[in-house]
This record gives sequence, C-alpha cells and structure tokens, in this order.
Amino acid sequence: MINNDISFPKPWWNRVNQGLNRRPSALLLVGPKGIGKTGLTIELAASWLCQSPLQDGSGCGSCQSCHWMSTSQHPDFRWVRPDADVEEGTGPSDEGKADLQETPVAGSDAKKKSQEIRIEQIRALSGFANVGSHRGGLRVVLISPANRMNYAAANALLKTLEEPAQSLVFILVADRLRGIPATVLSRCRRIDLGVDAQALSQIQTQNSEAAAWLIPLLVSGQIDPIRWAEKAGKSPPADAIDLLVRWMTDASRVASGLAPRAFPQEGAALEEQALRMKSPQRWFQMLAEIQASRAVAEHPLNPKLFYESIFDRYRRAQ
Ligand SMILES: [Zn+2]
Repeated sequence: MINNDISFPKPWWNRVNQGLNRRPSALLLVGPKGIGKTGLTIELAASWLCQSPLQDGSGCGSCQSCHWMSTSQHPDFRWVRPDADVEEGTGPSDEGKADLQETPVAGSDAKKKSQEIRIEQIRALSGFANVGSHRGGLRVVLISPANRMNYAAANALLKTLEEPAQSLVFILVADRLRGIPATVLSRCRRIDLGVDAQALSQIQTQNSEAAAWLIPLLVSGQIDPIRWAEKAGKSPPADAIDLLVRWMTDASRVASGLAPRAFPQEGAALEEQALRMKSPQRWFQMLAEIQASRAVAEHPLNPKLFYESIFDRYRRAQ
C-alpha cells in the first residue's frame, strides 16, 4: 500500500486498472468526497511508474520507483493541489516555486493559502513536461481536486492537453464536474466512481457481515468444500446461501454477456467463474438445489456437514 492514510476499495483498483487497457493521456476520476479517490489515484500512478508491476497491474512496492512514491519523492510524479490543501511535511512536493515570490503578510504567522489551483502551478508543469523523465519513461501529473482549478489554470491546462507531450499522463480527480470547463472534460477519459460507491454501499448492506467471509473464497475460485466449511465456522448458513445464490446468479449473467448485478466490483472473478462453467444446465440444477436447501438452513443439525454439502454442490456446478 503506497499511502496508508487513504484507503479505497480494492475492487475499484481492478475496475479502473483493467478498464484501462490503453493508458489515456488524460484520465478523470469523478466521485463523491471521502471515498478514497486520491489513494486510488496515487496507487494508479505508482503502478504506471513501477519498474516491475505485479500481474494484476499494481505496483510491486519494492522497486526504486515504488520506493520513491512511498516516500513522496518520485522525480517523475507531481501532485498539483491548492496550497491550502498542502500540509507541512506530507504528500509529494508540488511545483510551488511561484510561492517563493510571494511575500508573507507582515504580522501574520502564515500567508493566506490559496483554496484554488492557480495558473502558476499549471505553468510550472511545462518544465516538468519538457524535460526527459528521470527514469527514461513515463511522467505522471495528478491534479486534485481538479474542480478547484481557477479559470486561468484550467485554460492553461487545456493548452497542454491539446498538445500532449510524449509519455506525460495527467490524472484529474474531482468531487464533481461543475467547475471543470467542458473543453477540459472533452480531453479526458472519464471514470465515474460515484456509481460504484453507491453500488458498493448497497452490497455492503446486502451482504450481511455474517457471510462476508465467503466472498474472498468465491473470488479465489479454489473450491474446497471441507476447507470452506471450516472457514464458515459458526456463521449462519442462511446468509451464506443467500450470498452464494446471488454470486451464482451473477456468474450466469456474466456468462451470457450481462453485467453482474450483486457483485459489480468482482467482474474479473465472475468472468473467470463464467469461463469455468462447463454446462449451464448443471449450473442451474445445482443453483436450484442450493436454493432449495435454504428452507432447512436456519437450523441444520450439523452445520459443518450442511456447509460441506452446499459447497460440494457449488463445486459440482463447475
Ligand atoms: Zn515497483
């Protein structure tokens, strides 16, 4: 994890990273405040800059580049944000040279810090954009919150976006689109995380905590009825069955080219599951049997055996 202070749902990683089979020259991530957009973006930047990314595309966490990112010192990464947002000693250094020319207001402890991203900050990027990267590869600029660029700054950015420099990527992050000129928007590949945030909270309520243990097992695809039954322990089988039924329904949706409904954030795992599905007929037969066992799931005589039989059906459905 690059930034421990900011957490974000791992499924977004898969969604954003796998959704981008080709890296755009400008990416815009939009979503409500406080859902972890910045953390996600920094992870994304780290993965693009990483010298040996992992199989899922994320940064390795151990190369020189990842090390620089984790210590906020990457020479090929810039985070442009309002001065007021920059806390002393945290975050990657900004292009803040213009600040040096500003004179602190006499008698005040600190000069009044800007709430906006200013044109000087965008202009300062031209040096960064035009000099070769330290690693001979990519350079990444994060602009966050992009909706707080003032008009002049947005215009200056537009000029840069209109003539994209080679190997220079912009990631814009915003709580809302208002405040970002349409001309800038039209230059960005947009990913809306708000929809996912909504879906995610829905799922979190749906998948009662009692059955949450089952999700990683299903995602892993390593079906082992005995081990899974052990993992289940004393958790109520009814919850697990409900979740399993939703999972299997989603997998059949994905197999027929539809989007998953209950687990939109697990698209990749569901697709793998759909590929393993050899006979839809058997799949639905097992699904029906699992659903039928819901009737006796409230008080099974032997929960462990009950779980084993459910998971065995799931295994046979493959
Ligand atoms: Zn790395």
